[in-house]
Amino acid sequence: MSVRAILDMKGRDVATISADATLAEAAAQLAEKRIGALVVTGIERSVSGILSERDIVRALAQHKEAALARPVAEFMTRRVVTCTADDTVGELMHRMTAGRFRHVPVVEHGRLAGIVSIGDVVKSRVAEIERESEALRDYIRTA
Ligand code: AMP
Repeated sequence: MSVRAILDMKGRDVATISADATLAEAAAQLAEKRIGALVVTGIERSVSGILSERDIVRALAQHKEAALARPVAEFMTRRVVTCTADDTVGELMHRMTAGRFRHVPVVEHGRLAGIVSIGDVVKSRVAEIERESEALRDYIRTA
């Protein structure tokens, strides 16, 4: 299955934040939207970083509550691993496992075009396995 197929099902909306927003604003957005990461975008929806709940936990452990008034830019990951809509779910799983992260922004023509989380990947794999086993059951029934 391709990343495009996942995006067709879940949509292309992505929760974003700017690098100069505060960590408190980022935490409020994560809590309100019940999500685990925000893509940090620059001009024309280019990806300049990613900030996940783990980055906020790390910032709080290091700087205590003073971290909350500091900018997202200080704590985001700048080297973001991205994918395109043509990549396969298998490739994505490999990137997530190797990099130990749970979110991969989708970039098309230099602009943010969606996001895939580990939850989306697991959901699509389970659906694929269920389809395969159903096809096998049909085959056995009619053989
Ligand atoms: P996560 O598992 O997504 O909560 O992220 C764990 C750590 O990896 C955090 O420090 C994130 O900033 C970072 N991270 C998340 N997604 C990516 C990505 N696609 N590329 C690089 N780093 C990432």
